[in-house]
Amino acid sequence: MGFDTGALLPLDKALQGMLEQLSCRCETEQLPLPQALDRILAEEISSPLSVPPFDNAAMDGYALRLADLAAGAPLPVAGKAFAGQPYEGEWPAGHCIRIMTGAPVPAGTEAVVMQEETQEGANGITFLTTPFLGQNIRRRGEDLAEGSRVLASGLRLSPRELPLLASLGIATVTVRRPLKVAIFSTGDELKPLGTPLAHGDIYDSNRYAVKAMLTRMGIECLDLGIIPDDPAQLRAAFIQADREADALITTGGVSVGEADFTKQLLEELGEIGFWKLAIKPGKPFAFGRLPNAWFFGLPGNPVSAMVTFDQLVQPALAKLAGHHFARPLPLQAMAAEPLKKAPGRLDFQRGILSLGPNGLEVRSTGSQDSGVFSSLSRANCYIVLEQARGKVAAGETVTVEPFSGLLL
Ligand code: AMP
Ligand code: MG
Repeated sequence: MGFDTGALLPLDKALQGMLEQLSCRCETEQLPLPQALDRILAEEISSPLSVPPFDNAAMDGYALRLADLAAGAPLPVAGKAFAGQPYEGEWPAGHCIRIMTGAPVPAGTEAVVMQEETQEGANGITFLTTPFLGQNIRRRGEDLAEGSRVLASGLRLSPRELPLLASLGIATVTVRRPLKVAIFSTGDELKPLGTPLAHGDIYDSNRYAVKAMLTRMGIECLDLGIIPDDPAQLRAAFIQADREADALITTGGVSVGEADFTKQLLEELGEIGFWKLAIKPGKPFAFGRLPNAWFFGLPGNPVSAMVTFDQLVQPALAKLAGHHFARPLPLQAMAAEPLKKAPGRLDFQRGILSLGPNGLEVRSTGSQDSGVFSSLSRANCYIVLEQARGKVAAGETVTVEPFSGLLL
């Protein structure tokens, strides 16, 4: 699994090292469209028909032939066309046809004039504007041509895709089965919610973070609870996770002092690398494989655990799930106040991004200690400060990454 070099490993190297080893491990299944929300599409979708399927009116108004306007006289109405009830009668010269939005335009229609630009009189309809050829006509196939590629495999189906598929008459789709991930927290100090704390105890919060982020990713979670720092219990948990899940995520027990423990176990059961990442927060990180499942060991500090999940584990799990994942677009903003930073690690500081008089500006949420949860809960973005960069003065430009669906 490599990278046990002692030197700090840059984030992109770590990510690349993991992604190279991973591939999709989720089989496909067929689902009715309404059940496919948030699932990963496992087929390429081409349009089986043209959208719209026929030329139709974009406005309520009147369909006409341009030549009929030459005389300048009002045009009597020859008939009506409604959405779902096309006009199929005769269309005598010198007449127009009343038409509603979405109705097929009668053969020969050259323009639809919206009713607000017309006047109804005893002799017919007077047109107050000069229409152009094709005005207010939605052409067959102008949205999607029959046979054209509509959606790529690997896409996560959102509320924007379901209606698109429905408009194509697609009732079932081929999607990936959800990835299944086992999780547990390690640490003798951790207590579950609903139990009193003895001196030295804290509540286990990481498990709720990891579980919530897995849920956001549409991943099935097998929660194995809190495992004390005890080799026999850890061993049993590793074996169960390996048997029942595609991957295992643990928090805690990967930093210096504890790593030997987990390391010994994992080396016995599988293959493992313990990395010191050149990122802040979140230096210690473990990645490896058990006989069946992949393993991700997150640091115990709550903010480190969330940031390493977001930056490293999320893309890795996405690949296992068959999801073509893309990070949110980074933005440039002005630091509205000085930011503390030492060169050497890539910082993911927690920030508050807002729109100021001169464009986007960002502030720190305060203490950036990796144990300070409030720095995360009040933030709406990362302030991403490059590895080599030192402290930032007010007014400097910094890169920010708005929080994505994973954290929202
Ligand atoms: P570790 O990585 O196990 O050395 O833990 C680093 C710090 O994170 C310690 O202060 C732990 O008490 C804390 N920590 C570890 N696991 C959790 C957890 N599940 N929930 C909250 N804090 C934790
Ligand atoms: Mg611990």
